[in-house]
Amino acid sequence: MERVLAERLEIVNDRLEKVLARTGRRREEITLLAVTKVFPAQSILDAYHLGLREFGENYVQEFEGKHPAVSHLSGARFHLIGHLQSNKARRAAELFQVIQTVDSGKLARRLNEAGGPLDIMIEVKLSAEDAKAGAAPAELPALLDAVRECANLRLTGLMTMPPWSDDSEAARPYFRQLAALAKPHGLQQLSMGMSHDFETAIEEGSTCIRVGTALFGRRVKKTDP
Ligand SMILES: *Cc1c(COP(=O)(O)O)cnc(C)c1O
Repeated sequence: MERVLAERLEIVNDRLEKVLARTGRRREEITLLAVTKVFPAQSILDAYHLGLREFGENYVQEFEGKHPAVSHLSGARFHLIGHLQSNKARRAAELFQVIQTVDSGKLARRLNEAGGPLDIMIEVKLSAEDAKAGAAPAELPALLDAVRECANLRLTGLMTMPPWSDDSEAARPYFRQLAALAKPHGLQQLSMGMSHDFETAIEEGSTCIRVGTALFGRRVKKTDP
């Protein structure tokens, strides 16, 4: 499988190079986050072997199972990119180096109580879809105040997940809006863009693209046989 992964990584890197050339941005500005949810710990080991160092996981419990197999990887950083409930905050703070999905003052305080230092991002909900987690743009100023009172948390930026569409242009207004929200607050990092739309996200200022399918292939739901 590592050979397939190597080929896919090459394709992702080619796509990245093209958009960097077109936008005049530098490779060091962009974190390629390998999203390994649903895939086994071996996928993380394979990706690490190919030079990837930043990994995204969606569920605390799922990553808990993989953690013993990957905790020795020096220089690897694990980002939680799925919704986090306050009652799992302490465990999440132990397992992850970055929590990208902080969306309430309560959650921020729980993470802060777990000790630190811990890098966090605020997840912003920009679409009206009910299912999407994240803080509303109007809640952002109060949430920023709450986070700044948390001495153990280091806020690096904002994260968002637009409504799914196979047309990457459909996501552009959301990416643009996230960048516009971050700017007045001096937030440098923007986690936006996935397998099918990361070029658009980078054009709009993304500093962290979260790529699963383009590296590891289609995810088969755990409920499937
Ligand atoms: C699964 C997931 C991704 C990766 O999506 P792909 O389309 O497979 O690249 C990115 N971000 C979040 C929040 C995810 O849950």
